[in-house]
Amino acid sequence: MSLTIQNKSVVSIHYKLQDNDGNLLDSSENKDPMKYLHGAQNIVPGLENALEGKKAGDTFQIKVTPEEGYGEVQPNLIGVIPRDTFKGVDKIEKGMNFQAEAPDGSVQHIFVKEVNGDDITVDGNHPLAGVELNFDIEVIEVRDATEEEVSHGHVH
Ligand code: ZN
Repeated sequence: MSLTIQNKSVVSIHYKLQDNDGNLLDSSENKDPMKYLHGAQNIVPGLENALEGKKAGDTFQIKVTPEEGYGEVQPNLIGVIPRDTFKGVDKIEKGMNFQAEAPDGSVQHIFVKEVNGDDITVDGNHPLAGVELNFDIEVIEVRDATEEEVSHGHVH
């Protein structure tokens, strides 16, 4: 039984995430703590690394660079496609989200960046790509993962 966070720990945290201007991007406030399996890349690498060795009751702040977060903005994931591509969608507006199948079969989220007549600018970058992530973390609980959780790579 290990009480400090290491590989194969199941960790519960409360978190608050802000950008560099102090805008709240996400938070576990008024929700159950977020649970993740440490070492399984369930969360961004910069946050996972910062949690290593922490224990229940610890609180800390960490700034995560895009490199260690959701990546830099990749210009090649931004492109203009014709309106016809969106068959069956009545209204296309800036900010809308779609799921598309990538060539390798994985699901890719794209969002509409701009609408200019029949030219739709779409962006396949994560919405937080290129953003520095400022986390406030409180570690709530640490326990060992079960064998099943380890083999699945996520918390049950
Ligand atoms: Zn599972």
